[in-house]
Amino acid sequence: MSVQRLLEFVQDITRLLDTRPAEAVVLAEGKKLVARLVEKDDWLPAVFAQPHPAHYQQYLLYADPLDRLSIVSFVWGPGQKTPVHDHLTWGIVGGLRGEERETTYQKQADGSYQTTGSGVLLPGQVTAVSPTIGDVHEVANNLSDQPSISIHVYGANIGRVNRHVFDPVSGATKGFISGYANEFVPNLWS
Ligand code: FE
Repeated sequence: MSVQRLLEFVQDITRLLDTRPAEAVVLAEGKKLVARLVEKDDWLPAVFAQPHPAHYQQYLLYADPLDRLSIVSFVWGPGQKTPVHDHLTWGIVGGLRGEERETTYQKQADGSYQTTGSGVLLPGQVTAVSPTIGDVHEVANNLSDQPSISIHVYGANIGRVNRHVFDPVSGATKGFISGYANEFVPNLWS
């Protein structure tokens, strides 16, 4: 198997978004599609599975020309993690390799952010975020001795969205744009 699985996912999610579904439908149906995408770890080109020694990597795999979605391979080196951050759009995450730990946060009356839960995403499992269902979290490699990889699908060109990182204790907010590590995307067309 090759990137054919990714091409089929791109086709299926584009058809879904073409119906202009409500977010609840995007999340419900999109989760099924992402689950199928990460069902088998046999399609991600090795170049988009390379960890960086100093920080986690975000490789763009595909972006809709109308910014309706983007697909990103997150590669975590041992012990690497994100700051507490938001997305400002829906996001669906499927585990592909290793273990990813997600800790969710909710803003409190005093401006700080308190954890509301924590869980581990295993290969084949799927989870979601959005401003409606809970948008603030921290994500980490749950493994200290090997890389982990998950596939993230967002309802925007996430690498260019102006969003936020938070200091959970003080509630201090900083703007950030995540960008992408790669210059070229997988060839889905040959
Ligand atoms: Fe996130």
